[in-house]
Amino acid sequence: MRPDTPAEHIAEAERLIRTATRYPEDQEPLLLQAAAHLELADARDRASALYDQLLSSSPADPHLIKALQASNLWEYGHEAEARALISGIRAAGPTDPAPWEVIAEALETHDELEASHDCFTEAATLLITDDPLTPGTTALLTGRHRVRRLLGRPHDDWDMVADTRHTGPIPLDELHDPKRIWALGSDDPAELRAEIARLRAELGDRRAALSRPFPVAILHWPQRELSELLTSYPTLAAEYPSHTTHLSRIEASLRALAASGTTNLGIVTASVPSYEAFAASEKTSPASPSLLAEYATTLAARGKATPWPPTPTTPCWCTSGKPYAECHGAPTDS
Ligand SMILES: [Zn+2]
Ligand SMILES: [Zn+2]
Repeated sequence: MRPDTPAEHIAEAERLIRTATRYPEDQEPLLLQAAAHLELADARDRASALYDQLLSSSPADPHLIKALQASNLWEYGHEAEARALISGIRAAGPTDPAPWEVIAEALETHDELEASHDCFTEAATLLITDDPLTPGTTALLTGRHRVRRLLGRPHDDWDMVADTRHTGPIPLDELHDPKRIWALGSDDPAELRAEIARLRAELGDRRAALSRPFPVAILHWPQRELSELLTSYPTLAAEYPSHTTHLSRIEASLRALAASGTTNLGIVTASVPSYEAFAASEKTSPASPSLLAEYATTLAARGKATPWPPTPTTPCWCTSGKPYAECHGAPTDS
C-alpha cells in the first residue's frame, strides 16, 4: 500500500500517529513519517504541529527535525521563522549531512542561490574529511554542483568529484545545466521554462526521499514462528506454501524492488505475539492476509527494519549463519 492521493496521505499519517501512541519508544520515526505524509498532502500546518511536538520531546535528531520544519514553514509563508531555524542549524554545525541538505535545498527552492551555495560549501567543508564519501556527503556535493551550475560558476575540485561519483544515466553536467536548451540552439522561452521545471522536479524528488528515510520492508517469519502462525491461522497458508519458499520469495521480492529502482530496502522480522497484538490494535483478525503488509509497514515505520542487501561476507538475513554471498545472496538463488 503506497499512498498517492492527498486523502490517502492524510489517512496514512493518521494511522501512524495512532501507532505512535501505542509505541511511545518509537514515536520519533513514526511521527517523522507521519509529518512527511502530511507535507505530501499539503497539510503543512498539521506537519508543523507534529515537528513542534517532536522538538519538545528531546528527539534523537533535533537538527534534522528543525531543518524539515524550516523547509515546511517556508513553504506556507512563515519565512522569518524558517530563516531563524536555518541560521540556528548553520551555527550549530551538525555532523550529519541530512539537515544541511534540507536547509540548503530550502534556500535553493526560494531562489536564494548564493545562500544555498554557501550552505552546501559550509557543510562540505565541515563534513568531508579524509574518509571516503558516504551517500550523505555525496548528496551534498551533488546539490552544490547543481547550485553552482545554476549560478554559472566554473567547476572546482568538488564539482569534479560530484561528476565522478554520479551514477545516473544522464551526466550531471547535462542534468544540472539550465542553459542546455540554449546551447542546443533553442530560442523558445517555453522550452527553457520546461527545462527549469524539470530541474525543480528532480529537486522535489530528492527532497521527498529525504523526508521519507524509511525503508520499504519485507516481512520475514523465522521457521518456528511461521509454523506457529500457520497452525493458528490456516487461512494464511496460501501466502506461505513452505518456509523455504517464503525465504526465497523474500530475496526475490527485494531483488525485483531493487531492479525497479526502489532504494532503502529492508527486512522486518515477524513474531506471532507481536502480529496478534498488531491485529488487536487494528481491530482486525490475524487470519486476514491483507493485514500482513500493514504489519510490515508498521514495523518498518517503528525503525525495526534491517537494511538489505547485507554485504557478501556478513551472515545472511535468514539466520542460517552462512555468509550472505553463499546463502540467499548467491547469484543462482533468484
Ligand atoms: Zn560537473
Ligand atoms: Zn540465507
